[in-house]
Amino acid sequence: MATVTETVAAHAAPQAGSANAPQETIDGFHLVIEALKLNGIDTVFGLPGIPITDLTRKAQAAGMRVISFRHEQNAGYAAQIAGFMTGKPGVCLTVSAPGFLNGLTALANATTNCFPMILMSGSSEREVVDLQQGDYEEMDQLAIAKPLCKAAFRVLHAEDIGVGVARAIRAAVSGRPGGVYLDLPAKLFPQSLEAQAGRDSLIKVVDPAPRQIPGEDAVKRALDLLKGAKKPLIILGKGAAYAQADADIKALIEKTGIPYLPMSMAKGLLPDTHPQCASAARSFVLPGADVVMLVGARLNWLLSHGKGKTWGGKSSKDWGGQKFIQVDISPTEADSNVAIDAPVVGDIGSCVAALLAGLGSSWPKPPAEWLDAVNERKTRNVAKMAETLAKNPTPMNFHSALNVVRDIVKANPDACLVNEGANALDFTRSIVDMYKPRKRLDVGTWGVMGVGMGFAVGAAVTSGGQVIAIEGDSAFGFSGMEVETICRYNLPVCIVIMNNNGVYRGDETPYGNAKDPAPLVFVKDARYEKLMEAFGGVGAYVTTPAELRKAMEEAIRSRKPTLINAMIDEGAGTESGRITALNPTAAKK
Ligand code: ADP
Ligand code: MG
Repeated sequence: MATVTETVAAHAAPQAGSANAPQETIDGFHLVIEALKLNGIDTVFGLPGIPITDLTRKAQAAGMRVISFRHEQNAGYAAQIAGFMTGKPGVCLTVSAPGFLNGLTALANATTNCFPMILMSGSSEREVVDLQQGDYEEMDQLAIAKPLCKAAFRVLHAEDIGVGVARAIRAAVSGRPGGVYLDLPAKLFPQSLEAQAGRDSLIKVVDPAPRQIPGEDAVKRALDLLKGAKKPLIILGKGAAYAQADADIKALIEKTGIPYLPMSMAKGLLPDTHPQCASAARSFVLPGADVVMLVGARLNWLLSHGKGKTWGGKSSKDWGGQKFIQVDISPTEADSNVAIDAPVVGDIGSCVAALLAGLGSSWPKPPAEWLDAVNERKTRNVAKMAETLAKNPTPMNFHSALNVVRDIVKANPDACLVNEGANALDFTRSIVDMYKPRKRLDVGTWGVMGVGMGFAVGAAVTSGGQVIAIEGDSAFGFSGMEVETICRYNLPVCIVIMNNNGVYRGDETPYGNAKDPAPLVFVKDARYEKLMEAFGGVGAYVTTPAELRKAMEEAIRSRKPTLINAMIDEGAGTESGRITALNPTAAKK
């Protein structure tokens, strides 16, 4: 083992004249690396510095991919999207205190979104931290991480590294996936063990995300409710996409004949062009349905908490009268917002298989009246959208630009589509169809800004394929420096900035007597594409859909890092995009 040989050289120089052969040892650095490799983790995303600098070098020397970022938050986002795409925990490596804190936003986001991720941070000396004696980057990182993750562990002794990594992996991927913190104090790394004992201390985790079989009675209860429905609806969430039970989910949808609605990151689990996809009739099916089956989707704010006008209730607090089935791995998710009549608790693969088996051979299709009504609404809305998309206004607006993106994604269904912003997010989600599972990667449960370049790097490294990132100009700003990372690793990432000169829109003027610009506007006509050119990538400045199409096609043909600065009408956006209602003053305007 090369790593052992290397540590032998470092730690066990033979003593001249000694009768005993030098003892082979393995140090903390290599135990961490070997523990990860043993568990099939071959990539770490991070940012080197004290005390983990050598860990990044040695990991690379040991054959791991080490992707170094310009800011830890972006490395954390890359790790978690790798986790979402693969079902294995993505690993993010940071330095102590400030680096750790930079990674923490991503850790919390992973936990909130149920993405498996491990944040591994170096930390300073326990004894000094606990007595608050003022160490370099002193911070009680474990305590700070705890409320933001599923589990947090600290390893103090080299012989416990195997256990620490195994516990972190299990905590990240078993049950409801999430973020895990692993604290690695600087003193751990130079500790060494006799090589064989070291290897024996490592754990290859058996069955890290065990199947959880739903109860037969729960499955029957759900199917009975579904069978009696006159206006059934299935909602697929990103938990369903994560579960990688694609074929069974498709079979369940098609055998029941029930219209379905994909949540944002479940788009493409079945192609958005599927005849049963009800996305274009969302505001009709939510209030209209009588029985709703949620599959890996929570009734959180993104679904108006299952209440209110969205669901046909009279006021914002009113229940619309729907019955709910909820398929979820978390036994405490049910009843979090409204009563769940039939919870089915288990992993989605097992639950969907059990539901499928229970359908039998003579499952009745939903009443034609309901299906016709959904289709009628869909056809009308699709035609309306087609009319809007066909327009070619000057200056370009979100619709005419995204019409191009829609075509490009259709022609490249294997590309990952990263998406963030306000209007750039909402319009892309509704205009750009997805065709394959786990290809749409976006702001998720929090609607967080800043995931863009981290997700783009993570997706490109994980898939080895093309990434298209549709970014609001404001959203891009949070992680824009990572274009250097994209160029350094020569990743096939095509960034399109929907540039409307500001947050929401760019045409606000200063308030009161201010000499400063209005708080929401940016430098007009900013040349973001030059940022990409600065690092050797391709930049393009486009003002028409035809120019945008040409630039995107060229980016995908060449696979070169590309940034397209797409100038959009600065008056085109709405405040807060589609979530204006959450912005109390904007809602009243
Ligand atoms: P969306 O935002 O798409 O609605 P959410 O993140 O709200 O999705 O919901 C995802 C749900 O999926 C969570 O409640 C989570 O517990 C569940 N989940 C995640 N992975 C699995 C799995 N493998 N099996 C079952 N449920 C899962
Ligand atoms: Mg903008």
